[in-house]
Amino acid sequence: QGLAGRSTKEVLQLYAAHGQQMKLQRSSVVTQLHGAIKKRLKQDLKSLRSFALELSKDFQRQSKTCLYQVLAAVQGIQLQNEAMQMFQIKAFDLEQSLQEVTERYEKEKQKRKALHNSLVELRGNIRVHCRIRPLLPFDDAAGHSGSQDRQRNFSDKVAYAADDETVLVKCSRPGHASVNKTFQFERVYHDLESQDAVFADVAPLLTSLLDGYNVCIMAYGQTGSGKTYTMLGPQIEGNLSFSTEEESELGIIPRATEEVFRLISEKPPGSYWVEVSVVEVYNNEIFDLLAKNSYGKVFGVKRDVVTTREGKSDVPLLTHETVENASEFLHLVNKGLQLRVTHPTLVHAHSSRSHLVVTLTITTVVFGDNFGTLWEDEQTSQRLNKEASCTFPQKMRDNKSTSSSRASSPVQLEATEKMKQVKTRLQLVDLAGSECVGMSGVTGAALRETSFINRSLSALADVLGAIAEQRPHVPYRNSKLTHLLQDSVGGDAKLLVMLCISPGQKYLTESMQSLGFGSRARQVHRGQVKKKNFPVPSKAK
Ligand code: ADP
Ligand code: MG
Repeated sequence: QGLAGRSTKEVLQLYAAHGQQMKLQRSSVVTQLHGAIKKRLKQDLKSLRSFALELSKDFQRQSKTCLYQVLAAVQGIQLQNEAMQMFQIKAFDLEQSLQEVTERYEKEKQKRKALHNSLVELRGNIRVHCRIRPLLPFDDAAGHSGSQDRQRNFSDKVAYAADDETVLVKCSRPGHASVNKTFQFERVYHDLESQDAVFADVAPLLTSLLDGYNVCIMAYGQTGSGKTYTMLGPQIEGNLSFSTEEESELGIIPRATEEVFRLISEKPPGSYWVEVSVVEVYNNEIFDLLAKNSYGKVFGVKRDVVTTREGKSDVPLLTHETVENASEFLHLVNKGLQLRVTHPTLVHAHSSRSHLVVTLTITTVVFGDNFGTLWEDEQTSQRLNKEASCTFPQKMRDNKSTSSSRASSPVQLEATEKMKQVKTRLQLVDLAGSECVGMSGVTGAALRETSFINRSLSALADVLGAIAEQRPHVPYRNSKLTHLLQDSVGGDAKLLVMLCISPGQKYLTESMQSLGFGSRARQVHRGQVKKKNFPVPSKAK
């Protein structure tokens, strides 16, 4: 029991000692751990601090750049605002200068118009253009020709456009050196020049038309030289239209009409209207191609040309149809063309043995006494004022009897007081072939035709010659053709002769004849320049 008591005590002591030792041990571990944790914490804190420092530095840096960026953006906006303001000012300035330029342009346009008319007058009222057509397959076909030319290659090209004012013809005779001859005209078209190019030079004349001048454009040349092609278009007689893809191939007549309507569309509405007549001069007789029989069917009726008391040419009872646009016009012309008398010659199967004259009569209505609003240049204004008051009553009577006026036709406005009408005429002429009889190989009725054609063409040459020499008497009445064209050939009317030339050797004689005709017609303009300084008595007879 003693032992047991002792050992229990010892055990308890041991246990206590162990406990104390453990306690001691534990507290030293705690201290160690504490130290380690403290050290670690200190390290962490340090790195945290340096991280925070870094972060704040970075933040400062970034906010600085942001600030710069914001500043730059603000500055940019300010600059843009300034630029915008500048632009606005500039736009305003531009708008103003545009307005000024537009006003100046308008003024210049008026001046140009006046200058254009003086220039046209200075150049003379007759100008001659020459168009050389390309060599074509039918040029190869053997034809009649002088014996001297027989050895030559008929299809050799002998007529060229040397430049846009000069025609060069290589004239060669067997056994002789070839001689180059040149002819000068206002404009020469080479064989590849388009219908567009030809019309571009014709268009300015139409401005004169609306300025109150009569205008005549005629194609002169032998059969097959391109007269109908130039005036109407390629082999579309009786079938002209604006809708086809061949529109670029259309000739002067349809284009001029389109241009006239375009010019009219720029004028006050209702102040202009257009009537059309289509006639053919065949064997020195005038046929009205728009006359209708009692069934309304179109058929050719013979008409006569007379000289009115005012000395103007007029065709009583001639059918004038009012047209409102170029398509209506073409429709009428097509109808007229279907009646055209044709007679195939050996030269070219579609040769026309008659002169075709398409006339557009443009009536201008002017209210009040003043033409100034329509015609800027004083001279025209005065001239038309005079004309309107003296010829108008007569014209009006004619109008009532011959026009197939429509209900809407402004002719009805005639009762209006202080209203005047002025008529100007555009005559578009496809002349009959100018070839010699020998070449076409015609006899009998065709020979008669040819002699009528030759007579009317030489009457035309005589008329132009008389005008050139300022003879007091101009023989307009020697042929129906010249009588019919009197008002658009003489006086202050403007005439354009479009010489058509076949380039082949085979046609040399004919081409030289045409070029001679054109050169003589051109003499007229030198006479006209003189006329401006020394007024001569009226040529109308
Ligand atoms: P004309 O009326 O003088 O007798 P055409 O106008 O009928 O002659 O022309 C004869 C032929 O030549 C036609 O087939 C026509 O299409 C053609 N022709 C005329 N001129 C030209 C040209 N400049 N370009 C192409 N072909 C043309
Ligand atoms: Mg023809």
